[in-house]
This record gives sequence, C-alpha cells and structure tokens, in this order.
Amino acid sequence: MAEIKLENIHKRYDNAEDDAVTDFNLEVEDNEFIVFVGPSGCGKSTTLRMIAGLEEITEGDLYIDDDVVNDVAPKDRDIAMVFQNYALYPHMTVFDNMAFGLKLRKMPKNEIKERVDHAAEMLGLTDLLDRKPAALSGGQRQRVALGRAVVRSPKVFLMDEPLSNLDAKLRVHMRTEIAKLHEKLETTMIYVTHDQTEAMTLADRIVIMEAGVIQQVGSPFEVYNSP
Ligand code: ADP
Ligand code: ADP
Repeated sequence: MAEIKLENIHKRYDNAEDDAVTDFNLEVEDNEFIVFVGPSGCGKSTTLRMIAGLEEITEGDLYIDDDVVNDVAPKDRDIAMVFQNYALYPHMTVFDNMAFGLKLRKMPKNEIKERVDHAAEMLGLTDLLDRKPAALSGGQRQRVALGRAVVRSPKVFLMDEPLSNLDAKLRVHMRTEIAKLHEKLETTMIYVTHDQTEAMTLADRIVIMEAGVIQQVGSPFEVYNSP
C-alpha cells in the first residue's frame, strides 16, 4: 500500500513549446483505484510515466508515502507498470517472463518459484507456464503481463490502457479480473483508459484530463452525473 502525491507537476518535452502536463495536483490514497480518462494526447501516459520514473519531471514534486521520489530510479520505486502492448519476451516461456524481474533483483530461486506459482494460480496461468507467448491468446498474454507485475508485489500498480488491444468480450472479462486483483492485492492502482465503462466500474475516483490539465476529479457518480 502506498500514498502518492503529485504537487504542482509540470512536464515539458525537449523542444516542445507547451507543457504536456501543467500544474497537476493530486493526492492518491492507500489502496485507492484511480482512473485517468481524456482524449488522446491530453497527458495521461506522460503522467503515468513520470510516476513510474520513466519520464523526467520538469517541475514539481512527486511523493510516494512521505518521500519525494523525483530522482529515484524506476527500479527503486516499488512500482510495477503494465502496458497496452504486453511487451513480453518472445523467446522466454511464461514462467521465465514472469520470473525475469525477480531474477534481475537476485531473488532466491525457491522464492521466485513460489511467487510465480502463486501469481499464475491467481491469474489462471498454471497450465500455461511452459508455453512461449506466440502460443497464447491475446487475453492470456495480457494475463502474463499482469502476472509479471503481480509477482513483484509492488506497492503501486500503473496500467496504461492494458485492455485496449483485446476484443470486447475479453475486455469485459479482464476488467473483472483486474477489479478482483485490486481487491486481493490491496495495492494503489492508477489506470489509464479511453473506455468510460471501464472507468465507471473500476474507479474509486476518476481524473478527467484535457490538454495537460485536470478538468475534474470525483467518484464515477460525481463525474458522470454532474451537469
Ligand atoms: P497514446 O495516444 O495511446 O497515448 P501515442 O500513439 O500518442 O499513444 O504515443 C505512442 C508513443 O509515442 C508513446 O510512447 C509516446 O511517448 C510517443 N509519442 C507520442 N507523441 C510523441 C511526440 N510528439 N513526439 C515523440 N514521441 C511521441
Ligand atoms: P495521452 O496518454 O493522454 O494520449 P501523452 O501523455 O502520450 O497523452 O501525450 C501528451 C502530449 O505530449 C502530446 O501532445 C504528445 O504529443 C506529447 N508527447 C508525448 N510523448 C512525447 C515525447 N516522447 N516527446 C515529445 N512529446 C511527447
């Protein structure tokens, strides 16, 4: 569990004339599920990548719990990020894909196995651990991508349109899986989507962005029933 605070955050890309994100202020509570929505190009991914440490913050402070983490390397942030395009290693099995990040962190083999088996069970991947990504369906690949994040038991999960490459039926199914995952893991989640139904069903609070700024923050009810 972790609290995240974005304080007067600005992002301007090199050579850009305007900020991609301007004066962004948000406090995310422990175990909260936050969803960012807004048109393409409004700054959702940029904000997520700044939280993950994949993009430098031009101005402002990012806190995780009580620490300013602007200069903390991504691998030291205790954050896992799941992307739209899965980014699985094609030559590795499902097991090795899920274990990779833990091996990098020099975790003992028996603990890696325990964590991968547990995540696989949670995500219905137990029978697929020896397969390569090419032999998986889109939904299964996305589960592996989730599994790779889950095994790390991070304090924070960031998801950038994780379901947008799936067909409609699978998307609904995986949406439920993600809600369950959040319940089980009790982690703070920040989730980017274009899909209003996803936002309404998953979010504790929705952040509506437009052209780099926050337009509105509130519960799904507040956001979608306001005049
Ligand atoms: P989305 O709209 O789904 O957020 P995009 O297709 O706009 O994604 O962007 C895909 C990738 O291209 C992202 O990694 C983003 O950082 C990069 N990108 C987007 N806009 C620019 C830009 N103007 N210059 C350089 N890279 C960009
Ligand atoms: P969203 O995720 O909401 O689609 P992004 O955060 O990807 O929006 O993009 C916000 C703005 O920043 C856009 O104007 C985009 O073109 C620009 N942008 C994104 N990535 C880059 C980049 N790597 N270099 C320059 N501009 C970028």
